[in-house]
Amino acid sequence: MAEETIFSKIIRREIPSDIVYQDDMVTAFRDIAPQAPTHILIIPNILLPTVNDVKPEHEQVLGHMIITAAKIAEQEGIAENGYRLVVNCNRHGGQEVYHIHMHLLGGKVLGPMLSH
Ligand code: 5GP
Repeated sequence: MAEETIFSKIIRREIPSDIVYQDDMVTAFRDIAPQAPTHILIIPNILLPTVNDVKPEHEQVLGHMIITAAKIAEQEGIAENGYRLVVNCNRHGGQEVYHIHMHLLGGKVLGPMLSH
C-alpha cells in the first residue's frame, strides 16, 4: 500500500490550496512555488506514486489528465502561445512528491527543456 502525500490532503480539501479544477477523476491546483506565470499541477484522485506504478487500468485517468491540462491551458489563456507538460519520475527525474502529477507550465517562453 503506497503512502499518502500532502497531495491526498489537497484532494480532500483538508489543507488549503488554490484548486482550479476538480472532478471525480482528477484535481488541478496552482503550484506553491511557481516556475512560470502559469504553473498548475494536475493529479489523479487515486494514489499512484510514480509513472512506474502505472498499469493498463489507469489509461483512462491518465488520458483525462491530459484532456484536463488542455482545458485549463485554454482557461488560462496560454493554449495558443503554447505550454509544457512535465511528469517527473523518481530521483533522476527530480520527483519530490510521490503522487503522480503533471506540471502545466506556461505564460512565457520556457526556454530549453533541460538546464544541463
Ligand atoms: P516534482 O518535483 O515532484 O515533480 O514536483 C512537486 C511540485 O509540488 C513542486 O513544484 C512543488 O512546488 C509542489 N508542491 C509541493 N508541496 C506542495 C503543496 O503543499 N502545495 C502545492 N500547491 N504545491 C506543492
